[in-house]
Amino acid sequence: MKKQNFYGFTIEKLKSFLEENNYKGFNADQIFKWVYEKKVTNPEEMTNISKPLRKFISDIFEFENLELVTRQIADDSTQKFLFKLIDEHVIETVLMRYDYGLSLCITSQVGCSMGCTFCASGLITKHRNLNIYELVNQIISVQNIIEEKITHIVVMGTGEPFDNYDNVMDFIRIINYKHGLQIGARHISVSTCGIVPKIYDYAREPIKTNLAISLHASNNELRSRIMKINKVYPLEDLIKAVKDYTEISGRRVTFEYILLKGINDDIKYANELSDLIRGINAYVNLIPYNPVNEFVYKKTDPIKAQKFYKQLEKRGINATLRRELGTDIDAACGQLRLKNN
Ligand code: SAH
Repeated sequence: MKKQNFYGFTIEKLKSFLEENNYKGFNADQIFKWVYEKKVTNPEEMTNISKPLRKFISDIFEFENLELVTRQIADDSTQKFLFKLIDEHVIETVLMRYDYGLSLCITSQVGCSMGCTFCASGLITKHRNLNIYELVNQIISVQNIIEEKITHIVVMGTGEPFDNYDNVMDFIRIINYKHGLQIGARHISVSTCGIVPKIYDYAREPIKTNLAISLHASNNELRSRIMKINKVYPLEDLIKAVKDYTEISGRRVTFEYILLKGINDDIKYANELSDLIRGINAYVNLIPYNPVNEFVYKKTDPIKAQKFYKQLEKRGINATLRRELGTDIDAACGQLRLKNN
């Protein structure tokens, strides 16, 4: 029988799997503690569990990490890891160092089919969803390489997490679990281009992780032009869903807004954006565009970006103007692409 990768199991799934095989459910917590807390993956060393169960674990599970292809380190210390999956697809995971901790940007799909016109990920159409262990293993593999603990997770790498909803939610359960990776819900963020029905599902998830919405435009005409998803879920539906999300979950939402030179960076759009999101428990993250060779879009000049930001503030909208990381290694936001594939 083909061994299963341990990192694909939530605690609930492991419990029922053990019970189906006539072991005790509570053994699941013991095994989680060994693997995630003590980093012991050799069942022989799991001294507080029975010999037959140790044998069962080594017969059934493997604890392989992802295969590292390359690791690049940028001048600002951002690191990009290229991992090869068992079917030869290559994915990228990006590590950013902040004063508050180490944040890992997770890839959720091989390629992406959302078709945002400015995003490099869309240059490769979606091949498949990442499975649960490939999601969890991006963290485990990077932690093993750097020998430090990841404290923050952003699901903002290649792919649309809400197009791989169930696996991403199981991933969150594993990394947030008290005997799993113990990453706090408030340290986990998921970003979506706006798949409305999933925003409602996400609002009702018991683990209250953060939500970021890739907005990037303040009216339907412009948004549909740059983001295909807007034709399926136009702004009225998206904004209503976000409002409902904040009410159901009691959480604040982040709107991501890339500043694209001459496209969406005029002051009139700052005004339109303020009107669109007024009254929602939200803040706007203004992102400098990282130019992608294949596209014509350019980055807004810093002075103009500053003006846009000031206008939002003047209109009573909380906003931040984000700094760029990792541009010299193509690890910047939205630049993840599978060059080596
Ligand atoms: N599919 C999800 C998550 C991945 S993209 C989403 O759309 O939110 C993560 C963020 O990077 C999104 O806000 C996306 O619009 C943005 N992005 C894409 N390409 C970019 C680029 N070249 N420069 C800056 N941000 C970019």
